[in-house]
Amino acid sequence: MKFAIRDDDTCYFTSPDALTRVYSDVWDRVPVGLATVPFAIGYERAGIPREHWHSGSAFPLEQNGDLVAALRELLERRRVTVALHGYTHQDFPRGFEFQAAPDPERRVREGRQYLRGLLRRDISVFVPPHNALSKRGLSAVAAAGLNILGSFLSFRPSMRPWDRATLANWWRVRRFRAATGRSKSDRFVYPHVLRYAGHAEFGCHSLVPATTLEELVAGFEEARRAGGDFCLATHYWEVGDAMKQVMLRLLDYAARYADVRFVAVEDLFAR
Ligand SMILES: [Zn+2]
Repeated sequence: MKFAIRDDDTCYFTSPDALTRVYSDVWDRVPVGLATVPFAIGYERAGIPREHWHSGSAFPLEQNGDLVAALRELLERRRVTVALHGYTHQDFPRGFEFQAAPDPERRVREGRQYLRGLLRRDISVFVPPHNALSKRGLSAVAAAGLNILGSFLSFRPSMRPWDRATLANWWRVRRFRAATGRSKSDRFVYPHVLRYAGHAEFGCHSLVPATTLEELVAGFEEARRAGGDFCLATHYWEVGDAMKQVMLRLLDYAARYADVRFVAVEDLFAR
C-alpha cells in the first residue's frame, strides 16, 4: 500500500521557513508533494499580505530567491517533489482559476514549462486550485498528459470530457459506492488510480483544521481493505500544532503496517 502527502499553495508568498516549520520532521519519512503556483496572484487567505488580496498583480516564483534556492535543495535531497497548482491561482468573478480562466490550455503549458525551467525537474502532476475543474479545465490538463490529484469525482457529462476509459471508470466508482453502502450523495474518496486515455486521476483525503485523526484512520483503513492507496492533502499555511499532531499520529499509524510504502505523489500513478 502506498501512502503520500500533498501540500498546496507554495508560491511567491511562501517563506522557506513556513515549509520547514511544518515538514522538517515529516519529509525525512515521506517526500512532500508541493503543489506550486508559478505566477501567484493574491486572494483572501492567511499568509498572503492583505494588500495583495485584490491587487491583481502576478508574482513569478523566481522573485522569491530564498524559496527557489530552498526548493532546489529540497528537490536534490528528495525531501519534496513539485506539482503544478494552477498558473496564478487567482479567483475570477465567475469561478476559480481552472473553472473560469479563458485560457486554461496556455496556463497548463506555460506553467509547466516555467516550473521545469526554474526548478530543473519535469512536472507530471497537476493539482487544481480549490480542487475545482470545469470540463474545459479538465480537458486542458488531460491533453497535456498531466496526472491529477484532487478530491472531487464528478462523472456528470457537463463536468467531464468522455474518452474510451470513462465508462469503465464510472462503473468502478459506482461499484465501490454500492459495496460500501453509500448513497449517491454520500462523500467518499475512491482509493484507486483511475486511468484515462492520456492521464490518470487520484483522490486525496483532506487535512483541514476540523479534521480528526479518527476520520483519517477510517479513510486509510477503508483504502486498505479495498487494496488501494492513500494520499493526505493539506496546506502548510493552516497547519498549527493540533493539525500537525494529527498528521504525525496518522503517519505513525500507517507506519505500523509493514507493507505501507511512503512515496512521492508522482509514484501513486506508477503502474
Ligand atoms: Zn490552492
